[in-house]
Amino acid sequence: MAKVLVSSCLLGCKVRYDGNNLEVKSSEFDEFIQSNDITPFCPEVAGGLPIPRIPAEICGGTGDDVLNGSAKIFGKDGRDVTKAFLNGAELALKTCLDNKIEYAVLTESSPSCGSSIIYNGKFEGVKVSGKGVTCSLLENNGIKVTSQHELEKLKI
Ligand code: SF4
Repeated sequence: MAKVLVSSCLLGCKVRYDGNNLEVKSSEFDEFIQSNDITPFCPEVAGGLPIPRIPAEICGGTGDDVLNGSAKIFGKDGRDVTKAFLNGAELALKTCLDNKIEYAVLTESSPSCGSSIIYNGKFEGVKVSGKGVTCSLLENNGIKVTSQHELEKLKI
């Protein structure tokens, strides 16, 4: 049984920007959750953002670019929410380090949690290759991250 941080919206928690959860209709996912030691975590709520909230996208880069200061995260209303996203990412990392969690399953396509896909930053509904800011920070610190679609990548 491995310790795994999991995006709380995948576990039935209604924490997404639209006030909903994201149901994973997969028996493989259900078995994974039941057979490991799961810590639910939502970086955006932990970082201080409300439920519901204005949708946000990484503008001008990826999660790594946000971490190095060369890109920012804006809400669809034009508000700079970079600081809240960074706070949430740092709290996710702290949760992993404090609890000796070495794995994470994070929601694909989110500007926080995406592990291979994010939106293009123009609020056009267009997806591009890239990682969210929490995924990047965790991976940069040795946590193995995948999405709800590729659990086998963790090799637990
Ligand atoms: S930040 Fe991550 S855990 Fe929170 S709602 Fe978005 S995808 Fe889910």
